[in-house]
Amino acid sequence: MIKAIFFDLDDTLLWDQKSIKEAFIATCRIAEERYGIDAEELESAVREAAKKLYSTYDTYPFTQMIGINPFEGLWGTFLDEIKEFKKLKEIVPAYRKDAWTAGLKKMGIDDADFGHELAERFPEQRRKLPFVYEDTFETLESLKGMYQLLLLTNGSPHLQNTKLEISPELVPYFDQIVISGDYGRGKPDPGIFEYALSKLSLAKEEAIMVGDNLMTDILGANRAGIKSVWINRHNKQRNEVIPAYEIQHLADLHTILEELNQN
Ligand SMILES: [Mg+2]
Repeated sequence: MIKAIFFDLDDTLLWDQKSIKEAFIATCRIAEERYGIDAEELESAVREAAKKLYSTYDTYPFTQMIGINPFEGLWGTFLDEIKEFKKLKEIVPAYRKDAWTAGLKKMGIDDADFGHELAERFPEQRRKLPFVYEDTFETLESLKGMYQLLLLTNGSPHLQNTKLEISPELVPYFDQIVISGDYGRGKPDPGIFEYALSKLSLAKEEAIMVGDNLMTDILGANRAGIKSVWINRHNKQRNEVIPAYEIQHLADLHTILEELNQN
């Protein structure tokens, strides 16, 4: 009997990748206007520079373990209580500036002041551009009351809470919110799934995990013995991680839940 549904946040309920993409477009347009460079090419250059730079900091193993990606580093402020986040908070202002400046440089523009300006514009744009998938609310609405709902998200508590603050309609649907930065380890560590179960006093057979990421949501749920549902909205290829179920729309959850609860 399934009593609870665990939902991933980014790119499962919130369309984070679209928000990041749109923030890049808006910010790179400023550079296009200023210097006549191609906005899309600048975006690729900055993304590449950011990924490279992000992996050089001492905080990299920590960000990997908690699940904070380089683009989150481009807009998060990481005003978290936990010690390791303090280091990240110190690093990110220079990281942003350097990533944008390196991207500009790749385009033949040597202008660190402008790099700094763009680095500051990007977070403003990201905050202005939250996207929620169109089936998110109707699905949560239909499940609320029938199941306990738990949000299980990787990331900095401060940044994940910022995302929830700018899409405030989401929070009331959830009985519990578990953020990896608070717990100390991220998905796919089975410990965080066990912690989530304990928050609702449930056994692993009584929950199901829904997420878009095979390497975190699905792998972690599988390790913890929780049935996994891979939401594959954008027709991605599966890798070696095998979900119990695969769906393309959140509404398909109903069929799975009916089937599971018949037995
Ligand atoms: Mg996700």
